[in-house]
Amino acid sequence: MGQDSPFTALKRGSGATGSLPTTTNSASLRTAARVPSRGRQISKTFNNIKITILCGFVTILVLRGTIGVGNLGGGGGESEEQRKIMEKTKIFIDQLRSDDDPSDVLLNNESGGGGGGGGGVGGDDGVNPNVTYTLGPKITNWNEERKIWLDSHPEFPNFVNGKPRILLVTGSPPKPCDNSIGDHYLLKSIKNKIDYCRLHGIEIVYNMAHLDKELAGYWAKLPLIRKLMLSHPEVEWIWWMDSDALFTDMVFELPLSKYADYNMVIHGYPDLMFNQHSWIALNTGSFLFRNCQWSLDLLDAWAPMGPKGKIRDEAGKILTANLKGRPAFEADDQSALIYLLISQKDVWMNKVFLENAYYLHGYWAGLVDRYEEMMDKYHPGLGDERWPFVTHFVGCKPCGSYGDYPVERCLSSMERAYNFADNQVLKLYGFRHRGLLSPKVKRIRNETSSPLEFVDQFDIRRPLLGESGSESKNP
Ligand code: UDP
Ligand code: MN
Repeated sequence: MGQDSPFTALKRGSGATGSLPTTTNSASLRTAARVPSRGRQISKTFNNIKITILCGFVTILVLRGTIGVGNLGGGGGESEEQRKIMEKTKIFIDQLRSDDDPSDVLLNNESGGGGGGGGGVGGDDGVNPNVTYTLGPKITNWNEERKIWLDSHPEFPNFVNGKPRILLVTGSPPKPCDNSIGDHYLLKSIKNKIDYCRLHGIEIVYNMAHLDKELAGYWAKLPLIRKLMLSHPEVEWIWWMDSDALFTDMVFELPLSKYADYNMVIHGYPDLMFNQHSWIALNTGSFLFRNCQWSLDLLDAWAPMGPKGKIRDEAGKILTANLKGRPAFEADDQSALIYLLISQKDVWMNKVFLENAYYLHGYWAGLVDRYEEMMDKYHPGLGDERWPFVTHFVGCKPCGSYGDYPVERCLSSMERAYNFADNQVLKLYGFRHRGLLSPKVKRIRNETSSPLEFVDQFDIRRPLLGESGSESKNP
């Protein structure tokens, strides 16, 4: 345990009450110089003993004040103190995880049960199954409103140096993970995204709030995306990425010009969608929405299966009955989107780009064991099966208790993916991980007295900045 060493050190320190004789000796020497006779000598010795006892007593008092009573009492007292700290920590974590938050009552009344203020209020779960659930007040003129706003705010352009402004959005549950290792991987995951976004000039949002209490879990992204579109009219593309998805190609950039005529970009396969009606025809772990009226309409059409409880459970049955390979469980956002796009193909598909030329989402199980081969044969910047852009740990549930795969396989695979990606970042600074499973790093270049020579050589932004032009030339 990490706490052991400081406690051990303190115990050794308390053993240093043995330093008291030193004090006593110096005191007695001083006294002895003034009192040479034998009778006085006895009296002096007696005084010395008294002083020794007094000093010992003072030392004990000081140590009690410094390290606490329990720690002086030997092993039992130390663990008692630790036990109390752990108990208090546990009570605090249990409160964080608990659902009984007194302020909930207030929030329920405030929200009117409809999240963003939408319909469908009432019923057992706070939602009336007879009224179609909505994400908020219907907005019909967003394109016009947004254009007016953009025209009057030239300081917030939606295109910068010819590139559309992108906002990467991700998030995790409001509560601590079931296991602390889950929180560690959430941290690694957001670190990975911050690195990618920093290197590519993308803004980033991390959300931990359930903006609509009906849409908790994997549905939480819907009200969040809507809210961010409306609050950031300057953003052209909102890019959602799951917390269990990592960038594994730190050089690759989205080919956005390809999507000029589209409003949604998502990893998927037309044959699996429209011929096979497969429940994995697309993946909602990484996708983009253009900030426009069409996207608000799609979110409105997507949300009604989301409200938790009866609606989500009943909708799950419809999805399982209609989608190939889908196990029986409540409605999830991915199946609901596939079902919507299949059943209303003519309404939506002309603006949806099903991307599979590179891994906007890459299923981890086929990729993580091939990283060594990729490093041998290829290089970052390819984004496809040679060097996957995104590796997504579908079904691992690192923050929850029950995933579809053995936990040790998920954790070691996530560690490999993280380090594979982090090596690309560390290379800029002259380091790399000792191995794909090692958090430790080693130097790959010697320090130099002329560091600027290497900045251009190793900066992975160089070719990209070269393409887009002026940005790099105006420091
Ligand atoms: N999520 C969130 N808040 C929550 C629960 C989930 O923002 O309370 C996000 C989180 O980023 C997570 C994503 O929703 O990665 C989807 O869930 P998950 O990745 O567990 O589903 P899977 O990809 O395994 O189907
Ligand atoms: Mn996921």
